[in-house]
Amino acid sequence: RQQRYRSLRDQPARTVDGTMIGLQMNAGLLVDLPQLAESGAEGIGLFRTELQFMVASTMPRAGDQERLYRAVLDAAGDKPVTFRTLDVGGDKLLPYLSHGPEENPALGYRAMRLALDRPGLLRTQLRALLKASSGRESRIMFPMVTDLFEIRAARALIDRELDHLTRFGYEPPKKLSIGAMLEVPSLLYQLDPLMAGLDFVSIGSNDLFQFFFAVDRGNANVSGRYDDLSVPFLRALRSVVAASERNGVHLSLCGEMAGRPLSAMALIGLGFRNISMAPPSIGPVKAMLTTLDAAALSGELHALLDDGEETGSARAFLKDFAERH
Ligand code: PEP
Ligand code: MG
Repeated sequence: RQQRYRSLRDQPARTVDGTMIGLQMNAGLLVDLPQLAESGAEGIGLFRTELQFMVASTMPRAGDQERLYRAVLDAAGDKPVTFRTLDVGGDKLLPYLSHGPEENPALGYRAMRLALDRPGLLRTQLRALLKASSGRESRIMFPMVTDLFEIRAARALIDRELDHLTRFGYEPPKKLSIGAMLEVPSLLYQLDPLMAGLDFVSIGSNDLFQFFFAVDRGNANVSGRYDDLSVPFLRALRSVVAASERNGVHLSLCGEMAGRPLSAMALIGLGFRNISMAPPSIGPVKAMLTTLDAAALSGELHALLDDGEETGSARAFLKDFAERH
């Protein structure tokens, strides 16, 4: 099997009916970068910048942040890298940043909520990202967006930093793409205005699932009880695909489900054309794709989701489809 994955590595991810799928990988540290070549991923769809902060015993300095981002971009060469700004709080605590006790940390003071209150922290990071991508493409993504004012506030910080950098003679990025993670259900009901202000959206299905079903992703007693292939969840994902097509906004999904072949198959059936996953999943997902008739699956899956009486899991249908094909 490893042999088969290796032989697929340098081939495009193309379904039997000729649909091209972009497979990217998730990363968080410089040591992950060699996997870009090893896995054959087309880029880094999610770079979790909080990892650098979590492995440090004190707040990484601006220069250290910039050095890491530049090293990542250098190692990635001409493959794109999407940097997610700090996603701390919740289950990702920093020993040197006081968080205060929280009854519901997943719903608490985390990610953008914290970053916008501590603009020094976010501005330092944005400046480091912009400086590191001077003269090349910069892709910046905001986590845990709940309300569009958060994107406006973050964008204003980026504008200020760009201004500052050009005033001090730095070459700005050749191209700047700004995106948001869709991981809070409130965004599902403002998809058009969300997308109007962004270059790309990436679904964080781990958190979206957690909030959609009100189920703690870290609590094994409940997290296994609900199915990420359930019809209501797939309908939610489908509505995001439709909005991305309507708005011409690039869409990806970077949660764990992207790396499970059966779930990845469902995503392609829903119309996703780009997904990002842990590097070891690229081979198995690509192997699945090369045997998939995406159009046939899409027809059957949409019919299932269109059936208003259908409320259960699509897992059995998907397994059956995989066996029939
Ligand atoms: C997600 O929530 O799906 C995601 C990709 O982000 P993280 O797992 O880092 O919260
Ligand atoms: Mg998340």
